[in-house]
Amino acid sequence: MNDPRPLQELALPPDSDWALFLDFDGTLVNLVDHPENVEVLPKLPEVLSHISDRLRGALAIVTGREIRDIDRHLAPTCLPVAGIHGLTRRTADGHILEPNGRTDFLDDVKAGLAPLLKQHKGLHLEMKSHSLALHYRGNPNLEQLCIDAISNGTRHLENVELLRGKMVIEAKLGGYNKGIAVSDYLKESPFRGRLPVYAGDDVTDEDAFEVVNRNSGHSIKVGAGSTKANFRIQNTDEFIQWLNRLAVSI
Ligand SMILES: [Mg+2]
Repeated sequence: MNDPRPLQELALPPDSDWALFLDFDGTLVNLVDHPENVEVLPKLPEVLSHISDRLRGALAIVTGREIRDIDRHLAPTCLPVAGIHGLTRRTADGHILEPNGRTDFLDDVKAGLAPLLKQHKGLHLEMKSHSLALHYRGNPNLEQLCIDAISNGTRHLENVELLRGKMVIEAKLGGYNKGIAVSDYLKESPFRGRLPVYAGDDVTDEDAFEVVNRNSGHSIKVGAGSTKANFRIQNTDEFIQWLNRLAVSI
């Protein structure tokens, strides 16, 4: 693990062409009890749109959410998005890429979790197109119960991975992560040949930090916690302020 430098030490305006990758929850919006209740600052879509224009389209959101969910929250701005931790991906020219793997396991896992959800308050099961996420932010004491239940429900399944995040555990098809999504973008126009810069707040962003570090880019951890990132900024609000400064400097 690194000892990240304060993000304020990264010079603005950038002296090279950036390809900018941004996580959403905990990076562009503060974390809340229920994913539906996040609040996007009114100016954020416009700021992102402006930065994207200045980077000639080389700005992508890399998130655990569905692509359509990001579109709804950032409307009218529409950006390239890697959704569900890279399982789905919209390229800069608008193509949507989705995995071929079976997702019928999701219904079985959901059925297996039903007794737990019935028994306890404060849990939220989020069904996505290629994964399911069990959120326990509403009752953090249930962490181990949630881990055990979802582990038991997926143990017999091939090519299904568990992914731990902040107050959430997710079951998804294996073979995809945020780092692979960033690598794939970097092979495509307009990201190709640019210096990758990635900001994220969670353990699921560490795969992307590794890819960015390998490409001599800038990796930015938002908030506390051990990380492979090169830079750190204290919280979402400060990161948004930094984005505002970036928008006026490029
Ligand atoms: Mg996040």
